[in-house]
Amino acid sequence: MAEKALRFFRPFPFGFGLFYFWYSMVNLVSKCLDVVWITPGYGNGGAHARRPMGRFPGEAAFSMDQHDGLLSEEDRLRYQRSILLEGFGPEGQRKLRAGRVLVVGLGGLGSPALYYLAAAGVGTIGVVDGDRVDLSNLQRQILYGDGDVGQSKALAAADRIRRCYGSVAIIVHEGRLTAENGVGMVSLYDFVIEATDNFESKFLVNDICVGLGKPFSHAAVSGYYGQAMTVVPGAGPCYRCVFGNVPSRDAVISPDEEGTLGMVAGSLGAVQAMEAIKYLAGVGRLLVGRLFTWDGLTSTAREVTLPVEPSCPVCLKS
Ligand SMILES: [Zn+2]
Repeated sequence: MAEKALRFFRPFPFGFGLFYFWYSMVNLVSKCLDVVWITPGYGNGGAHARRPMGRFPGEAAFSMDQHDGLLSEEDRLRYQRSILLEGFGPEGQRKLRAGRVLVVGLGGLGSPALYYLAAAGVGTIGVVDGDRVDLSNLQRQILYGDGDVGQSKALAAADRIRRCYGSVAIIVHEGRLTAENGVGMVSLYDFVIEATDNFESKFLVNDICVGLGKPFSHAAVSGYYGQAMTVVPGAGPCYRCVFGNVPSRDAVISPDEEGTLGMVAGSLGAVQAMEAIKYLAGVGRLLVGRLFTWDGLTSTAREVTLPVEPSCPVCLKS
């Protein structure tokens, strides 16, 4: 695996090891926070999601009925600039309205991704994150403000999006996505944004999505650099095809020891939202089999072709 990683990352101006190092401490801390913040009973991945305009989880039964995709006159005005796009038009907008996207992780990547998905008019958006807002998050996690410190990220994010885009149905899955609740949760959606900050979660999202045949967008950031790829099961390599297995803890450095800028995560989060929009609307070319990298320090974008790994256990099983 190490040789494979080096092969893929040799062309980059940064080491693959940085990504390994970057996630370790957040993972450890997140696991500790799990014990405190997970709301009991979220094991089925849907029962506690709330109705579109509800205020607290469990307040009322929610419906995952797909939006009919019909556009009102207000919609046609609101999304005018999207509808004007060649190849997109009202049909593309209707597809977004009927689309359901799950955003896993509401940090530096998930913040811009969620904003753009909601602003673009995706009809139903699920959010999942087990953490609470920390003061040190505000430098890059633009969903939150001073008054959100100490609050549940999932609830604070949903509240922010509802106040900005009232016609979008936001479904809150409070707590972390786990092996137990993940299949039920992911199966409710058409596309997944993998915006987590630790390797365990990234591999878990991959394995669940590939197993269910659900497409998803992966992204990660480290320092001034970021990367993104999209997995469409059966159409190209998955995350495990490229990155193998969860690295050992001693091969990973704490993200607290490495700085980053919000704009780097913001750029990659926007790429992820764009992938979701392209998939739902059926336009453009997805980052399937391609790793997009962004060096914010030199404003350099690169692309590396990614092959399918014939012995990938997840792809072989699905
Ligand atoms: Zn694979």
